[in-house]
Amino acid sequence: MRCPYCQHTESRVLESRSTEAGQSVRRRRECLRCKHRFTTYERIEFVPVTVIKRDGNRESFDRSKLLRGIVRACEKTGIPQRRLEALVDEIEAELQQRFGREVTSNEIGELVLPYLRDESEVAYVRFASVYRQFQGIRDFVETLDHLKSHAELIERAKVSPTVAPEGDERETPASLNQAPQKPYSCAEMNQL
Ligand SMILES: [Zn+2]
Repeated sequence: MRCPYCQHTESRVLESRSTEAGQSVRRRRECLRCKHRFTTYERIEFVPVTVIKRDGNRESFDRSKLLRGIVRACEKTGIPQRRLEALVDEIEAELQQRFGREVTSNEIGELVLPYLRDESEVAYVRFASVYRQFQGIRDFVETLDHLKSHAELIERAKVSPTVAPEGDERETPASLNQAPQKPYSCAEMNQL
């Protein structure tokens, strides 16, 4: 690992810390020559994932792009940057496990939303509005309705444990399946 200040290749590790999701290790190092300190991240090497975009083009999955989208959605919500990076770690790991080498941008979006919903409703709606390409107020209303029915479900679950959405919440209880789940096409919107 080269020192970013003097390019010397030897350094000593002052501190190692695992990130929240355990996907990477952060190391604080000190250059043995110039004594400058710098930070390195060691990350599990993933199989490269190809993202199939809406227009059919393909590109490599870009972790920093996902992080930027999430950071933008979470602006002024008070969620610390470290938490957002841990979220991206979790999302990336799940992406690998569930979709393997190819994933559509739509699937990524749908994967991200439940994570954001647990962090901040504001971030959830912002993210949905960008990636689902909201066209107007109806899209927002539908998303808010969906959010509301989810919140009510959680609320009811507190009263009656039988409907508790436990573990993987993508295994939605039957009552939630009645709510609008998918983005609506323009044609559908016009019929509203
Ligand atoms: Zn140095």
